[in-house]
Amino acid sequence: MRRLIGTVSGVFALVACSASNGASTAPSSPAAPPSASSPSVARSASAATAGTTGIGDPYFPGDGNGGYDVTHYSLALAYDPGRKHLGGTATVEAKAVQNLSQFNMDLHGFTVSKVTVDGADAQFDRKGDELTVYTDLDDQDDFKVTVAYAGTPEPVRGSANLGTYGFVPTADGSFVTSEPNGAKTWFPSNDHPADKATFDFRLTVPEGVTAIANGELTAPPKTEGGQTTFLWRESHPMATYLATMTTGKFSVRTGDSPGGIPVYAATDPRYDGVLDNLFTESGKITDHWSKVFGPYPFKSTGGVVDDFDAGYALENQTKPIYGGFEPDQSIIAHELAHQWFGNSLSITRWKDLWLNEGFATYAEWLWAEDNGQATAQNAFDQAYANATDALWDYPPGETRPDDLFNASVYIRGAMALHALRVAIGDDKFFPMLKKWVADHKYGNVTTEEFIELAEQTAGRQLGDLFDAWLFERTRPPKVG
Ligand SMILES: [Zn+2]
Repeated sequence: MRRLIGTVSGVFALVACSASNGASTAPSSPAAPPSASSPSVARSASAATAGTTGIGDPYFPGDGNGGYDVTHYSLALAYDPGRKHLGGTATVEAKAVQNLSQFNMDLHGFTVSKVTVDGADAQFDRKGDELTVYTDLDDQDDFKVTVAYAGTPEPVRGSANLGTYGFVPTADGSFVTSEPNGAKTWFPSNDHPADKATFDFRLTVPEGVTAIANGELTAPPKTEGGQTTFLWRESHPMATYLATMTTGKFSVRTGDSPGGIPVYAATDPRYDGVLDNLFTESGKITDHWSKVFGPYPFKSTGGVVDDFDAGYALENQTKPIYGGFEPDQSIIAHELAHQWFGNSLSITRWKDLWLNEGFATYAEWLWAEDNGQATAQNAFDQAYANATDALWDYPPGETRPDDLFNASVYIRGAMALHALRVAIGDDKFFPMLKKWVADHKYGNVTTEEFIELAEQTAGRQLGDLFDAWLFERTRPPKVG
C-alpha cells in the first residue's frame, strides 16, 4: 500500500484494534457443550484440542488462527448499498494440522445464523472478533466449513495514518481494502498473510451496480429480478488482506497489455477521464515489471479508481485500488510491483513488512530510472539528504506493530536494497531479484531467507550491510 501524501508515524487506531483482538485471545469456554457427542477420543490417536485463537504472530496475537490451513474460500455474498447490508455464505475449505475439538475464525460484527462442518450443523459462539466452531476433526482431515451471516459491515475507522480500512460502505457501493487485518470486516477467515488460499466470489448487487473482485470473471454477469450476479475467481493463492469486493457505479475497460496480459480497468464516474490512462499505464507497467522481476505471477492485471477518499492505494491482488485520486505512474508502478513483492511472495510475519514496502518503493525508483527521469542513485541521495533522525531511529527490518507503515519501512527499506545493489553490482542484483521471485512464487517469505539469498549471490557475508540498513538505530554511511 502507499499513502498519497505526507509522512508516516504512529498508527494508533491499529494498535487499539490489535489490542482488542489480543484481549479476546483467552480460551473461550463454550456457552453450550460441543455438538452431538461424537466418539472423538475413540477414533483419535491423541486427544483433540482447541486450535489456538491466533496464528502465532507476536505483533497481532489475535490475527489468524491455529490448527488448520485454509486452501479455498468461496464467498457467495449480496450487498445492498442502499441499506448497507451484506449477507450470504462463506464456504471455507481447509485441512486440519492437529486433532481439533474446536477452531476459530476471525469475524468482526454481523449476525451468524448457521455454521456447518462437512454438511452437519456445528455449534459455535462469538467472542470479540473470534468465531469459535466446535467440531471433531483428526489431524490432516480435509474439511469444509460454511458460515451464513448478515449485517452491516463495520470497517476499522479513525486510524491517523491508514484512515479507514476493511469493508467501507460508500455512496454507491463499497470500497474494500483490508491491510493489515480488515478481511474479518466482511468474511470469516484465517485473517493473516501466513495462510494464503484461492478464492471464488459470487457477488450479487442491484442492477446497474458493478461488483469487482480479484482474478477474472468466469462468466458474463447475469441479471435477474433487478439483481446482477458477478462470478470472479482468483486461481492463485492470495492473502486475505488482498481480497476485495469493491462495488458501485463503474466504467470498465478491458483488453490486453502490449505484452499480452489481460487488463481490467475500472473507474468511478468521477474519474472517467482517467480510465484510458489507467488501462494503458497498468498494462505497460505490468509488462515492464515482467521483464525486470520475471514473468507476471497472475492471469490478469489492472486497477480500480473509486471515489472514496481514502488517501491511499492498496495492491489488491490483480486489481490495485486507488482511493479518491488520479494515480500517477509512480504509484501505479508501486502497486503493480507488489504483485510480485507482497502478493505472489507474501510475508510470514508483519515484522518483515519491508519485504513488501521497501521493494515496492525501490520499484518506484527503478521506474524513474528505467524511464530516464532520475537514477535510483539520485533517489537514494535525495532520501539520504532529506532523512530525519526519525528515519534513522526506526530500523525497518523489524517493523513496529504500533507503527507498521512508518516511512522507514518504505524509504529506508528501499535504501537497504540500493545499498545491496551498490555492494554486489547490477550483474548480480537483478538476477537475484528474479531468483527471489521464482524460488518463492505463491509462497511466504522471511527477511532471513532474503539475507541468505543475498549472501549466496554475493558469495560473502553481508551481515554488516543488513545490520546497518535494517536493524540498527543509527545512520549508516552513504553509499554510491
Ligand atoms: Zn505499498
